Amino acid sequence: MNKISQRILDLSESATIAMSRRSREMREQGLDVISLSLGEPDFETPDFVRQAAKEAIDIGYSHYPPIPGYQDLRQAIAHKLKRDNGLDYTANQIVVSTGAKQSLANVILCTVDPGDEVLLPAPYWVSYYEQIRLAGGTPVIIPTAIENDFKVTRDDLEKYHTDKTKLVIFSSPCNPSGSVFSKEDLAEIADYLKAHPNVIAISDEIYELINFKSQHVSLASFSEIYDQVVTVNGLSKGFAMTGWRIGYIAAPQEIADACVKMQGQFTSATSSIAQRAALAALQADPSEMDYMKEAFEERRAKVGEWLREIPGLKVNQPEGAFYFFPDVSALLGSKIGDRTINDSADLCMYLLEEALVALVPGDAFGSPECIRISYASSLKDLETALSRIKAAIEKLD
Ligand code: PLP
Repeated sequence: MNKISQRILDLSESATIAMSRRSREMREQGLDVISLSLGEPDFETPDFVRQAAKEAIDIGYSHYPPIPGYQDLRQAIAHKLKRDNGLDYTANQIVVSTGAKQSLANVILCTVDPGDEVLLPAPYWVSYYEQIRLAGGTPVIIPTAIENDFKVTRDDLEKYHTDKTKLVIFSSPCNPSGSVFSKEDLAEIADYLKAHPNVIAISDEIYELINFKSQHVSLASFSEIYDQVVTVNGLSKGFAMTGWRIGYIAAPQEIADACVKMQGQFTSATSSIAQRAALAALQADPSEMDYMKEAFEERRAKVGEWLREIPGLKVNQPEGAFYFFPDVSALLGSKIGDRTINDSADLCMYLLEEALVALVPGDAFGSPECIRISYASSLKDLETALSRIKAAIEKLD
């Protein structure tokens, strides 16, 4: 008998983490590896947020907070959702967790029974897939195309819908594609949900503040399907607070209550200090973080230019987050010496070894014909990395 449960043996390690571990090992050997594989802003948490945390320590925020989060923080989140997204939630419908990752795990474990199917338009964020499997559910991958900016349509959803469909999960702005769903794009999902009142949607909006295109639109703003939507958000990306571990949901009351029950048995509330810092962040005007968005936008322009000079890549135009997700199909089957690049994982390994640049293969996101390039790095590193990638790809026959 295995010491480790089957549930964990069946779980895949997060591909982004595996890639960054490999590049760390190479760095430890003295190699100058540039990692464009990570999903976190390369900025520090703003001073006013750090200050709030220091004050919380001094005042003595050292006891267990209420499981769903401090009431004033939940109120501030409800206020933010009204102010920025036009959404009506009471504080009781908000559950604060240890990062949006835990928020997602809570919702998935609270809604998915073994045998249930969950629609995942690809490319999807890696952890959705494994969390669904952990809940005993079946991820049903819906392919989308770069030509359509990786957007899923109502017809696509209908095609994969069965009487076992329980959930649909997507992110906008999207990790890994950077696509931003407009109101019209979201209407496709809303129409599908209207036709299937038992299906719940998880709308992951964690990249809300990194949107170069337009006003962010929340799926829950379609009032007819408000009761079918769980909005997930958090402070990791928009406020450069990945280490503080603050995520939250806004959900129909029954789902929020179930998540509180679940979290109460697993982690209790997230850190009291991080919650006080989050309160300061959410009370600020979101334009406080525009400097970060502007830096990402400048890098997007440059990286887009450099990527389009590389032969064999079909390059998307991301409108948010900090990733490009080019299609590399034209490079598959190419050779260097006796090595053949059969898939995007082979390509990423080749680029790690030859160009010393760490990227993430698209199969981690359900789109094996693509690779993910994060531009959450300095322009100097990005320029060096992109010129190395170009040189390595030009060597392929
Ligand atoms: N959702 C998406 C789409 C993400 O990219 C991430 C982090 O990479 C998360 C959720 C989880 O964020 P956190 O747990 O840091 O709040």
